[in-house]
Amino acid sequence: MARKPTSPAALRAAAEAQLADAPAPAPARSAEDLLHELQVHQIELEMQNEALRQAQVELEESRDRYVDLYDFAPVGYLTLSHAGLIEQINLTGAALLGEVRKKLLGRRFDRHIAPEDRDRWQRQFLRSVRQGDRLRCDLALQRGDGARFYAHLDCLPLSGAEPQVRISLSDISERHHAEEELRIAAIAFESQEGIMVSDAHGVIVRVNHAFTRLTGYRADEAIGQTPKLLRSGRHDKAFYDRMWQALREKGYWQGEMWNKRKNGKIYAEWLTISAVKSPEGETTHYVGTFSEITQNKEAQAEIHRLAYYDALTHLPNRRLLMDRLGQALASSSRSGSHGAVLFIDLDNFKTLNDTRGHAVGDLLLGEVAQRLQTGVREGDTISRLGDTISRLGGDEFVVVLEDLSTEAPEAAAQAKLVGEKVRATLAQPYDLEGRAFHCTASLGITLFQSHEESVEALLKQADLALYQAKDAGRNCLRFFDPAMQSTLDESSALEADLRLAVPRGQLQLHYQPQVDSMRRVIGAEALLRWRHPQRGLVAPDVFIPLAEETGLILPIGRWVLETACAQIQAWSAHAATRDLRLAVNVSARQFRQAGFVAEVEQVLSETGADPNRLKIELTESLVIDNVAETIARMQALKALGIGFSMDDFGTGFSSLSYLKRLPLDQLKIDRSFVFDLATDPNDAAIVQTIITMGHTLGLDVIAEGVESEAQLARLDQYGCAHFQGFLFSRPLPLEAFEAWLCK
Ligand code: C2E
Ligand code: MG
Ligand code: MG
Repeated sequence: MARKPTSPAALRAAAEAQLADAPAPAPARSAEDLLHELQVHQIELEMQNEALRQAQVELEESRDRYVDLYDFAPVGYLTLSHAGLIEQINLTGAALLGEVRKKLLGRRFDRHIAPEDRDRWQRQFLRSVRQGDRLRCDLALQRGDGARFYAHLDCLPLSGAEPQVRISLSDISERHHAEEELRIAAIAFESQEGIMVSDAHGVIVRVNHAFTRLTGYRADEAIGQTPKLLRSGRHDKAFYDRMWQALREKGYWQGEMWNKRKNGKIYAEWLTISAVKSPEGETTHYVGTFSEITQNKEAQAEIHRLAYYDALTHLPNRRLLMDRLGQALASSSRSGSHGAVLFIDLDNFKTLNDTRGHAVGDLLLGEVAQRLQTGVREGDTISRLGDTISRLGGDEFVVVLEDLSTEAPEAAAQAKLVGEKVRATLAQPYDLEGRAFHCTASLGITLFQSHEESVEALLKQADLALYQAKDAGRNCLRFFDPAMQSTLDESSALEADLRLAVPRGQLQLHYQPQVDSMRRVIGAEALLRWRHPQRGLVAPDVFIPLAEETGLILPIGRWVLETACAQIQAWSAHAATRDLRLAVNVSARQFRQAGFVAEVEQVLSETGADPNRLKIELTESLVIDNVAETIARMQALKALGIGFSMDDFGTGFSSLSYLKRLPLDQLKIDRSFVFDLATDPNDAAIVQTIITMGHTLGLDVIAEGVESEAQLARLDQYGCAHFQGFLFSRPLPLEAFEAWLCK
């Protein structure tokens, strides 16, 4: 730029120079005129001077404005030499690079470019300088303190002797981050999870590939629809209402949902929906992300099946039964209608298991389950038989009937009808691997109407009724009634006391003599008594079944055995008693316990009793329940020298086939046959048969319950050689028994 004169002195000089250059005045002019002209000129000059001063001020102001504009521009400006050195930089540029301007001048600009971008910059910069091309690029820059930012550079090469590049520099970090986030979002959107974006009205606006893979709907098929497209029909309106409510209130919902694929298949998904809100708080979109969990659900169902169903019959197990029964109780107390619990037990299951093996036993259980399921439901008078049929384990099944009459007698009749039907159905012959099998069932039934009874109490009641059915000869059904309830209460009080009987020394053995036909004493039966502090002497019939049920029979049985063996040992010292054989009653549970043989051996050796003086009385039901094992056990004990008597003979399933296989010494005719012997020809025939059979098998026969001379005479006549009964003596405490012996 050509520089204009600025100082007043220079201006004046310029003005004089102009005057000197002016054309010569006309000669005719007077000195006055000349002076006047000079004055005028003077004034003009001063005016010009003033104008020049004014122009200079304006110029200075505009230069300041320019400098301000330059320095405080919103973008950084810098000028680089062709070698890349910073020649000029405005304050904004210096601030962006994080240095004071002075330090930057003369420095290489590329020192402020992040290492990864430096190569690219140098290539592009060189090309731009060489070819004079404008260059626009985005670079990562570094400030003086090392912090980074992203910048957009607009580079304009300036031609000249020394080529320069003028650069404008703007910070685009924010835009860069936003773009980066969008890129991440785009990748995240294409994740393995299905994503569906809908607008505020639920209209689908976007879906990802995983959505298509999981639902079968392409994007163009889904967009424009609402998520109702996927509804499986497995959730009710209330479910969706709750979901929308959560979305409105919390902007968020998460849960399991059953949906339907395009191909119609229903699948389970884990779905999270979030509402997207505008800065004003208006919901603009909903984003749903989901993954398929059908397999988890299946695994869960499998776990549920294992936990709540019986593996063999696939019927609900005890756990589920308890649960359902609880629900049935609650619903009956709401509706007032009765329900019933049917406790079913097979009568001959153990025999089958023992004789034909567990696999065949399982077949029977499967068949029973089948019959219960079809038999109970078909054409019954009872309306809603979605009732629970369950297997408790072993051969025990429980059916819960619901919605019976509100009137107890009618409800009982309804339950009885179903019960009889069940009994009849189960009594039909079974075809097990081509062989027919006959099996009956006993049923115990109890009714319920309200919440008063607990689930456990109900089962116990039905179980008790079942006991009665078994007692009544099996293949029948019995109802639980309040009288049975008091028995139940009684027995729990008794049980608590019984636990203390052994430790408190309340048990006692009584001895009842056994005699031959010459009424000579050959031995005795040890009979247990419980001397209860309040109840007095309690008979074994009262507490032995309870002891069996609770397992208390094990310590009690051991006590009996020890006491009896100690007695044998004591008697061995006296001539009058050393030949006596002492019979001891052993109950099923005691006999079957693992280690029973070892226990007997131990007691014998501890007491020093002669095994030949000991006789064990077993009952038929004990034997028949597990013939093979019983025989093995009997043989082991027999090998020690111990004898066996079959107690209460004739009342059970007397069968010659197993009787032959048992290592017995004696049959003991049950006292019920002896009782009517003199009057009932039928009983007389039975007694006669037993005696003959016993002799045929080489067994000794003893009759129990002999009360009269008439009975004794008959028995004698039939060939019975041994007797026991009140006719000779009642069971006596030890001292009384010993005194009786001496008499
Ligand atoms: P059980 O083994 O059949 O015993 C014979 C029962 O008949 C005894 O009843 C005895 O008192 C009774 N009895 C004997 N002679 C006559 C008679 O002439 N007329 C009548 N009416 N009854 C007679 P008890 O002592 O009440 O025993 C009942 C049952 O308790 C026994 O029947 C036995 O099964 C069981 N028991 C007794 N002691 C024990 C024991 O130590 N262990 C086990 N497991 N059971 C026992
Ligand atoms: Mg006995
Ligand atoms: Mg008996």
